Amino acid sequence: NKPVEPDAALVAVKKFLSRRHKLLIGGEWVDAVNGQTFETIDPATEKVLTNVAKGEKADVDKAVVAARKAFKSGEWPLFQPSQRAKLLWKIADLIEANADELALLESMDNGKPVAYAKVVDVAWSVEFLRYMAGWPSKMEGATIPISFNLAPPTTQFHAYTRLEPVGVVGQIIPWNLPLLMAAWKIGPALATGCTVILKPAEETPLTALRLGELLLEAGVPAGVVNIVTGFGETAGAAIAEHPGIDKVAFTGSTEVGKIIVRAAAGNLKKLTLELGGKSPNVIFDDADIEQAVAGAANAIFFNSGQICSAGSRLYVQDGVYDKVVAALANAAKGIKVGVGTAADTQMGPIVSAKQFARVSNYIDIGRQEGGRISGGKKVGDSGYFLEPTLIADTSDTMRVVQEEIFGPVVTVGRFKDLEDIAEKANDTQYGLAAAVWTRDVSKAHKFAARVQAGTVWVNTYHVLDAALPFGGFKQSGWGREMGRDVLRAYTETKSVVVQL
Ligand code: NAD
Repeated sequence: NKPVEPDAALVAVKKFLSRRHKLLIGGEWVDAVNGQTFETIDPATEKVLTNVAKGEKADVDKAVVAARKAFKSGEWPLFQPSQRAKLLWKIADLIEANADELALLESMDNGKPVAYAKVVDVAWSVEFLRYMAGWPSKMEGATIPISFNLAPPTTQFHAYTRLEPVGVVGQIIPWNLPLLMAAWKIGPALATGCTVILKPAEETPLTALRLGELLLEAGVPAGVVNIVTGFGETAGAAIAEHPGIDKVAFTGSTEVGKIIVRAAAGNLKKLTLELGGKSPNVIFDDADIEQAVAGAANAIFFNSGQICSAGSRLYVQDGVYDKVVAALANAAKGIKVGVGTAADTQMGPIVSAKQFARVSNYIDIGRQEGGRISGGKKVGDSGYFLEPTLIADTSDTMRVVQEEIFGPVVTVGRFKDLEDIAEKANDTQYGLAAAVWTRDVSKAHKFAARVQAGTVWVNTYHVLDAALPFGGFKQSGWGREMGRDVLRAYTETKSVVVQL
C-alpha cells in the first residue's frame, strides 16, 4: 500500500486542505452569507477532509450580480477570440502543471484511484480545455441569400447570422468526475464568452475550489467564473430558478433533471441536461470473447461503476452466456478494491455513505427479484468499499434492470438474436450509451442504427473525445456536450437583415 503520489503533491494537498475554503464570487474568495460551512468526507476513511463554505440562495444572488456585471461590462466582453483561446490554453497548462496535486485531491475527495484520476480526470480536463481553446476564433455565422417577395424586385438584401453568447450560465455538476465535469462546463462557456456560476456536488467540492484558484492565476477576469459550493436543494435550486440566469447546464440524475426543468420554466432558461443511464452492453456469440469480457468489466467497474454511461446492463447471446458470466465473475473477483491513494488499487470506494446504502439496497432487491448474485459484499470495516458485483439471470422487468444503480453492479441477461436484443436494449427510460461486441460488421451497424443511445461503441467501451458529441436520447437528457454541438447550447443565433 505504498502511496503513488509524489511527496510534493501530498504537501500541496495538505496545504490546500488547511486553507479556509470560501466561495469565489466576483474574483474574490468570500465566506457564505450565512457564515456556515459543511464537511467533505474521504470515502476511504469516513473521516472529514475539510470544511467548505455552505453557499445558499443569498450567495447565488451575489454570484449572479457578479456574473451579469462581468458579462456586460469590464474586460470580458472586449476579450478578442484569440485572448479567450489563450486563456483556455493557460487554464489547461495550469491544470497540467498541478496534475499530481489535483489527482491526489480528487482521489481523496471522491475515492477513485489516484492513477486513474491523473490519466482520466486531470488529463481529459486538460485535453478538453485545449480542444475548446480552438473554438473562439471559429464561431462563424453565415451569409444567407434571401428572397422577400413584398419588396420591389430590384431590392437587394444582405443577410447574415451572428453567434452570440447566451449570457449568464448556471452549471450544476455531480460527484463522479468532479474536475472533469467542471472543465466540460466552463470550457464552452469561456470559449463562447458567457459568464458562469458553477456549483460542484456537495460530496466533492474540492477540485473545483482548487480549479478556482488556478482560474484566478490564469487571469480569468473577476466575475467571469463564480464558484458556489453548497447543497442541491438550496444552492442548486437557487441557480435553477434564478431569473437572472439565462441558461443552466446540468449533469446529474434524471430525477433532479426534472426538478430543474420545472424550476427553469420561470424565465424559460435554456437547458442542457446530461442525466442518468442504464446502458446496454451486448455480446454476440461471434465476438472475441476474451476482449468482450475485459471490455464488459471495464464498462461497469471503472470508477466503481459511478459513470453515467457505464455498461450496467450486460446482454449475452445464448450460445456464450454461461461462459461469459463465469469469465466476468472471475474478472470481477480479480479486481483489487482498495484505498484510492494506494498504487495497486483498481477500484476505490463508493463516494458516500448514502450512495453505498443505495447501491447495497439494489443488490438486495436483485436477490429478492431472483437474480444470481456474485460479489455484493462490503469490503473492510471502514470506508464505503463494495465488491464488484454481478446480478445474473435477470429478466427485463426487474427493477435492477430498469433503474440506474450507479455503482459497481452489472445485471446480466440473455438474448436470442439481433431482433430480440434491439427490443431489449431499448426497453428502459434511458438512452445515453450502448455497446456491441461482434466480429460481424453488418450486425454491429444494424445494432448501432436500432439502439436509442447518444453514443454507441463497437468492440470497445468508454471511448470519449473532446471532439465527439456526448449526451442522451430519451430521459438521459437534452442537448449534447463536447464537440461542435456544445457551442450551440452556449450561443444564440441572431439573423441580421440589411436592405442595400
Ligand atoms: P444528483 O442529481 O443528485 O446531483 C447532481 C447535482 O445536482 C449536485 O450538484 C447536486 O447538489 C445538485 N442538485 C441536487 N438536487 C438539486 C435540486 N433540487 N436543484 C438543483 N440542483 C440539485 O446526482 P448525483 O447523485 O450527484 O450524480 C449521479 C447522477 O448523475 C447519476 O444519475 C448519473 O447518471 C448522472 N450523471 C450523468 C452524466 C451525464 O453526462 N449524462 C454524467 C455524470 C453523472
